Amino acid sequence: MSETVRRETVIISGAGGGIGTATAQSFLDGSFNVVLVDLSEENLDRTVARLRAPENTVLRLPGDVSQEKTCQTVLSATLDRFGSVDVLVNNAGIIRREPTEETSLENWNQVLSTNLTAAFLMTRHVVSAMRAARKGSIVNVASRAAKRPHRNASPSYGASKAGLIYLTRHVAFEFAPYGIRANAVCPGPVETDMFRKIDPERRRQITAEIPLGRAASPEEVADLILYLAGPRSSYITGEAVNINGGSFMD
Ligand code: NAD
Repeated sequence: MSETVRRETVIISGAGGGIGTATAQSFLDGSFNVVLVDLSEENLDRTVARLRAPENTVLRLPGDVSQEKTCQTVLSATLDRFGSVDVLVNNAGIIRREPTEETSLENWNQVLSTNLTAAFLMTRHVVSAMRAARKGSIVNVASRAAKRPHRNASPSYGASKAGLIYLTRHVAFEFAPYGIRANAVCPGPVETDMFRKIDPERRRQITAEIPLGRAASPEEVADLILYLAGPRSSYITGEAVNINGGSFMD
């Protein structure tokens, strides 16, 4: 006699981008329902068109995750449609590349609210549902810039991602008694629009400095996210895992 296995559900922010799309496909391949959230309707449509998904396993939700109302709507729409939220991937992010003296307060606030406050807001709402279920996993997409300053990122970007690592550790610590884990990934350059916008010569220099000699593919990052979200990493929590081709090793 065959039993029906319940599909688990993941919410992915920034799902319209390169890492978001690859992550959505990885979770679909891992038999999850996927909730795709993105500010850009155009990006979301492109992602949905690319995904190989069984019927009724994808929920497309346009919205700005730095707005609390969006986070509330995303949670309630997810529970209405799929009945649970098992994994949250805080992936939405923007980068700025200006140095400190050229960083306006407005730009600073925009980067911090997209990369850090949005993850806090999504976590705050989603973790209540996870706590009630006494299970859940959160993966935050940080960056190697969280750990080492470099010329291609503004102080706002590095500070937002360093803050995201702290948030990860705090959530891991606070919610461990409820069976909820939280981890971060820290990619070096990844072949997405964010990296392709850098001029080709500079991109060549950046990849030449990486011991493995290339940027990551979005799928490589997605595989790590799926691993950290799932049962195979059940004793890992509060970690900020490098995926940077050997750029640095701590
Ligand atoms: P991307 O630009 O392809 O995708 C980012 C997506 O986030 C876009 O679709 C964008 O519309 C969405 N987004 C931005 N602000 C949003 C908001 N407020 N609400 C909802 N959606 C929003 O970039 P990517 O490379 O896929 O980046 C994904 C994550 O990976 C980001 O957090 C980024 O900082 C991080 N990262 C990327 C690289 C890289 O080299 N590409 C390296 C390290 C870390």
